[in-house]
Amino acid sequence: MRDLLGGKGAGLAEMTRLGLPVPPGFTITTKACNSYSRSGRSPPGLLKQVEVGIASIEGASGKRFGDPGNPLLVSVRSGAKFSMPGMMDTVLNLGLNDETVEGLAVLTSNDRFAWDSYRRLISMFGRIVKDIDGRAFEAILDRLKAKTASGKDAELTTDVLRQIVAEFKSVYRSKVGKDFPQTPREQLREAIAAVFRSWSGKRAIDYRNFNKIPHDLGTAANVQMMVFGNMGSDSGTGVAFTRNPSTGAKELFGEYLPNAQGEDVVAGIRTPLRILQLRDSWPDIYGQLGRVSQLLEKHYRDIQDMEFTVERGKLWMLQTRAGKRTAQAAVKTAVDMAKEGLIRREEAVLRVEPVHVVQLLLPRFDEGAKTAARKEGRELATGLNASPGAATGYVSFDPDEAEKLGRDEKRPVILVRVETSPDDVHGMLHAKGILTARGGATSHAAVVARGLGLPCVAGCEAIHIDYDAQEFRVGEKVVRHGDFLSIDGTSGDVFEGRIPTIDPDFEREEDLQTLLGWADGARLEMVWANADYPRDAQRARKFGAQGIGLCRTEHMFFETDRLPVVHEMILAAPEYRRVTARLKALRAEVEVAKNAKRADLEKQIQLLEPVHASLHRRYMGSLDKLGDLQRQDFVGILREMTGLPVIIRLIDPPLHEFLPRYEVLLVQVTKLSMARRDPDLLVRSARSEDDRAFVDEVQEAGGGDLGRGIEGLLPKKETLLRAVEATREANPMLGLRGCRLGITFPEITVMQVRAIFEAACALKKDDVDVHPEIMIPLVGHVNELKDQRAALEAEARAVMNRKGVTVDYKFGTMVEIPRAALTADEIARHAEFFSFGTNDLTQTTFGFSRDDAEGKFLLDYVARKILPHNPFQTLDREGVGQLMRLCVSKGRKVRAELEIGICGEHGGDPASIELCHEIGLDYVSCSPFRVPVARLAAAHAKLRAEVALTEDR
Ligand code: PEP
Ligand code: MG
Repeated sequence: MRDLLGGKGAGLAEMTRLGLPVPPGFTITTKACNSYSRSGRSPPGLLKQVEVGIASIEGASGKRFGDPGNPLLVSVRSGAKFSMPGMMDTVLNLGLNDETVEGLAVLTSNDRFAWDSYRRLISMFGRIVKDIDGRAFEAILDRLKAKTASGKDAELTTDVLRQIVAEFKSVYRSKVGKDFPQTPREQLREAIAAVFRSWSGKRAIDYRNFNKIPHDLGTAANVQMMVFGNMGSDSGTGVAFTRNPSTGAKELFGEYLPNAQGEDVVAGIRTPLRILQLRDSWPDIYGQLGRVSQLLEKHYRDIQDMEFTVERGKLWMLQTRAGKRTAQAAVKTAVDMAKEGLIRREEAVLRVEPVHVVQLLLPRFDEGAKTAARKEGRELATGLNASPGAATGYVSFDPDEAEKLGRDEKRPVILVRVETSPDDVHGMLHAKGILTARGGATSHAAVVARGLGLPCVAGCEAIHIDYDAQEFRVGEKVVRHGDFLSIDGTSGDVFEGRIPTIDPDFEREEDLQTLLGWADGARLEMVWANADYPRDAQRARKFGAQGIGLCRTEHMFFETDRLPVVHEMILAAPEYRRVTARLKALRAEVEVAKNAKRADLEKQIQLLEPVHASLHRRYMGSLDKLGDLQRQDFVGILREMTGLPVIIRLIDPPLHEFLPRYEVLLVQVTKLSMARRDPDLLVRSARSEDDRAFVDEVQEAGGGDLGRGIEGLLPKKETLLRAVEATREANPMLGLRGCRLGITFPEITVMQVRAIFEAACALKKDDVDVHPEIMIPLVGHVNELKDQRAALEAEARAVMNRKGVTVDYKFGTMVEIPRAALTADEIARHAEFFSFGTNDLTQTTFGFSRDDAEGKFLLDYVARKILPHNPFQTLDREGVGQLMRLCVSKGRKVRAELEIGICGEHGGDPASIELCHEIGLDYVSCSPFRVPVARLAAAHAKLRAEVALTEDR
């Protein structure tokens, strides 16, 4: 029914069927709109149907369209299958002309009302049907309102309203080149065509693009007898929700305006009254509305958003539709309705969107502070809620400055732009939030902000930015560069000044916990978390993680107190490797050499052995130190995850990532060399914070004496520079990293495995139930895995033998190189589990550098629709997805019980989780904060697949 009649038409038909008081009317179907969109003309036969419809309204109402004696007035409202609030058009009071207005005045004994209705028709018709700029009408109204005592339109007398009508008509004539149509049927025809045209308007198209609503649905047009809320003190109009759409509380919620028409509520001309006040003023209507509300909610089994009008004491229902709600209300009402038996638990789970969970777990404004800010008049404007979350910071209009303040000075910045472009991304990256004056939900700013997880209010047209003056204006108010601003990307609200944000507390979100509990019962995949530290693991467990899918061990190397040991290891490793190889070659040669040659070789060996021994000591010594530290880390994380699997990935990044940057070192070595004769040169030439920090470092190295510091530090920095130079690569992301590192320097990964098993054995002796899984990164060829497996499992066995403990463990690999996915059958013979590293798999499949693409061109690709979405955020189904699918099927053919999961960023993205479900992964692993989202998304994937299956049958 909704396909043909649209949401509004279907709601009206349904309310009529339920026996509710609905003004008589009829609906022109979406088919007619589609035909209009194709041909630019009304389809044949439409006019006849409209005549039949009008006749039936006349029959039901006893009024006649165009009859001055008893005029019927109608409205035309658009209504698509999916609600598109504020996007489409409505024309009211059709049927009024110079004659019927007089008839209406007599009939209602209310001249003022009749002329007020007429002026509304002319301006609305002019704006919607003829595209006249509404300001032309408003200016006239404002001028005449200003002459009344209070400046309000309620004080306009009939004579003034007559004058307004005359002036409106002349605006109409001058803009359109014709008189305002006096024939009601012509008015109606044109209004219907305008509603159809509005479907193809830019705003509507943008809205559909953003909300993924197909463009070929079309809108229906609802023609309905007008009822009037502005017929005096016993009339009014309002909007009501069956439950509170912002908190979810079970109460009739809404507002109304006595003696007003619907557009007055929308326009915010007068402050509406709370619906509860109806209980005192119109108890009968309040009671009736309560009964209608209950009936509709029971019928639709969801929150309803209802429009009503009271005309001279009689209640009329004008619309019912599913009520839009906040994240909090979505969760509360879903859980309450399931508990009330109104819906099933599975339905409750499906009613809450993953984005609601994201919103509940994002920082948000303190509601009390927000209300207070409103009361203080600090609310500036409302734009499009383009990317959720709340942010507060200093206004900056310049992306370069935003980058500097945000990155270098760590100050919170709100970047304010008319609109953004790829040239602004560097500033957006370091801002806390984005505000733009222009652009819709798919504008560059909106797309990029969502990509970065930043709050964004876009298309806030009320703000007028002046880059030269470094300020923006909203009406009379001026906000300047450096002032504080607060934006709420979830609601679209913009406030001046600071509003405190509050961090969510998952433990206190009881309804969410209940709902996620139901989701857990519905889903197939497990949800694991990526966690590197015990504190992350603890948080992940609190959020409901059932394992650790990725512990990046190198993160432990980055801790400042460990870096010197890591440096020591990196400095010794290549030299140790080189000398070991040389010694091995010499020893082989000496076996077959004779006489003088042999003596020479033996001498060389003699000279090299102490060097080798010393390097060995340094290298192994640093590895032992690191091993001790890693063991403590592993004890922490394994203990935290008692009873659950923990995938520990061995070292992945290239070694240079642990060393200072080449350019920085080069400058430091040069400065130290130049300052040897004149140490004060260092102080004199220090300009930046970094320069001054370097002077401090030198001073400290010399125990307060700069000269001594220079002499002590220079050789160390030179050695480090040589090491950095030696490990430098043109393409480090595709260079010596992942398993290549472990194969080249096996001592490092052997040390890690030793630490893992020593930790596991110690815990097991304490009766802690541990399940470590050893994961090798960046495997592309099965032989890489075989090489590492042989070395590492030997070490694992050695530790277990030494400790006399057997640990339940698995050995497996990441799949993050297309070749690994393509040869998954060979690889599965040597791996008990696969984990898709889709960050690298996306990088290597597309050939996009993951560190550069987003900052350089990728977000622009998305804004220009070259790519449908950012593939580092949502899995690319056709490419990367195909590789994953193939990998799973090849892998499981060889090893049916192969455990397969995902640990790239995509593991927390709902659309990607759906793909993982289709492919049949055992778990998805994501950052601890995404775990609740993933729990819900995994349940959705399963429940949706079931619904699709039932529909197919
Ligand atoms: C990946 O590549 O998806 C992954 C999880 O590993 P990292 O991000 O550490 O490279
Ligand atoms: Mg990776």
